[in-house]
Amino acid sequence: MVDERHFDVSQFGEEVKRVIVVAAHPDDLETACGGTIKLLVDRGVEVVLLLGTDGDIGTHDVSFTRETLAATRREETLNGARVFGLKDVIFLGHHDSELVADLALRAEVAAAYRRCQPDTVFTFDPFWVGQAHPDHTAAGRAAVDAYMPSKMELYHPEQLAGSVNVADVKRFFFFGGSNREGEMTIDISSAWESKVAATRCHVSQFGQKEEALEWLAEWNRETGKCCGLEYAEAFHPMRVW
Ligand SMILES: [Zn+2]
Repeated sequence: MVDERHFDVSQFGEEVKRVIVVAAHPDDLETACGGTIKLLVDRGVEVVLLLGTDGDIGTHDVSFTRETLAATRREETLNGARVFGLKDVIFLGHHDSELVADLALRAEVAAAYRRCQPDTVFTFDPFWVGQAHPDHTAAGRAAVDAYMPSKMELYHPEQLAGSVNVADVKRFFFFGGSNREGEMTIDISSAWESKVAATRCHVSQFGQKEEALEWLAEWNRETGKCCGLEYAEAFHPMRVW
């Protein structure tokens, strides 16, 4: 029997035109969904990164302070964004490992939805019990929690000054490493080199050693195994209305 499934980014549909990636740490976009994001940008999709924290504890090198590490990682983030051709990066500037899906974060995410008008959100799966990093769960949770109020005129009306309108997010795609029924598998083999190049911009995390990204190659190869793909990323869709 012929396998009629296809694994390219056309699975997301023509209606995906403006994406916002709600991430927790500077290297989350590249590692978790970078291949897919590159392929979407190449397809003409506008992509904005909304970054919850500056990743300011992400080192064992104590010659850094939290301030100098944050500055370094913002620079690395912008370098990675350039590799992919992202439209914009919004830094929320929270401290690493202290991101909380509270009312303040909800309002910050809603403001970004309203300013950027994404039709589609990519974020961590906040419902995945295997998620070990609290910032990842918080980013995903806040991304979902902001969806409904961001559509409503009476929610933080001060955000709607000038030409800013209520948001109209139509769909979510969750990433983060789970492996379950209903996931979409995206062939990122043709974007693999680009994904590696953008990930390597995060020098404070991965240095220049060839083997530093072997874990990532293994993860993406493993994800592709199901479908005979060299490298793949997987997403769990959630439709909203
Ligand atoms: Zn992270």
